[in-house]
Amino acid sequence: MNCDKNCPIHGTARTHGKIFTGTVVSTKMTKTATVEWQKLRYVQKYERYAKTRTKVKAHNPQCINAQKGDVVKIQETRKLSRTKNFAIIEKLGKQKLFEEKQSRIEQSKKREKEEENESS
Ligand SMILES: [Zn+2]
Repeated sequence: MNCDKNCPIHGTARTHGKIFTGTVVSTKMTKTATVEWQKLRYVQKYERYAKTRTKVKAHNPQCINAQKGDVVKIQETRKLSRTKNFAIIEKLGKQKLFEEKQSRIEQSKKREKEEENESS
């Protein structure tokens, strides 16, 4: 396999640490993808969840070659450049399908909540 040395599968940059799942929002830089994901954080003060966005640069190896809109799994690795210490380790699919799945989950959650409100 003709891959680069920073590839987490074929290269020497072993991944370790936290794994995140996010969506590729940019692949403008060679072998680098900007990956973004949303996190729900409970804010005690307001007694509700707040959405926070996290954006990181991750190494995009040739053997994975993730495109904009792809949902990817990324993992922490050693520092690959000044702003890059993540690498894509797996491509999970397209954002569209992923979003549909997520919105279905959210809708069923909403329905549960509505039913709860009705019964109280
Ligand atoms: Zn590779």
